[in-house]
Amino acid sequence: MKETIENEMELQFISKSTNESFARITVAAFASQLDPTIEELADIKTAVSEAVTNCIIHAYDNKQGIIKINAKLQENEIIIKISDNGKGIENIDVAKEPLYTTKPNLERSGMGFTIMESFMDSMKVESIVGLGTKITLTKTIKKEEDTEESKLIGLTKE
Ligand code: ATP
Ligand code: MG
Repeated sequence: MKETIENEMELQFISKSTNESFARITVAAFASQLDPTIEELADIKTAVSEAVTNCIIHAYDNKQGIIKINAKLQENEIIIKISDNGKGIENIDVAKEPLYTTKPNLERSGMGFTIMESFMDSMKVESIVGLGTKITLTKTIKKEEDTEESKLIGLTKE
């Protein structure tokens, strides 16, 4: 059966560092349709910012390339795909390790993937050397009726 997508958007921009805030703010504006808390929105912004920064500095090495973002809203979940056609990642497992960076001299701390993983519910990294990288991030936005407070007073809907 075909999946029901409630809303979807696509964004394409060149890998300029000034576009990092554009991407982060645009995805946050789209995500706001799910009525997230300030914290949930901040988590999404931080994760998008880390992924886009990686495309700019690692995938394209500060040369000009195209970054694409696709975001979908499905029930109360947001699925964000961020992709580049840059140099790709040789060893994804190693790249995901905390503190691992290939640019230690540029004040990078090697924490981007760790941050994305901890601020979102899931993170998938797909990459082919020489072709590019795609990061898929998902996050479920908690519905108000599911909060601890509403459960306590018996207002939780099924
Ligand atoms: P920080 O994010 O803390 O500034 P960092 O970017 O080096 O440092 P991560 O974001 O965790 O750390 O990424 C780890 C490594 O994975 C990078 O150093 C780089 O080698 C590789 N990498 C990440 N994203 C990409 C990408 N889109 N294309 C190519 N390589 C990437
Ligand atoms: Mg990074």
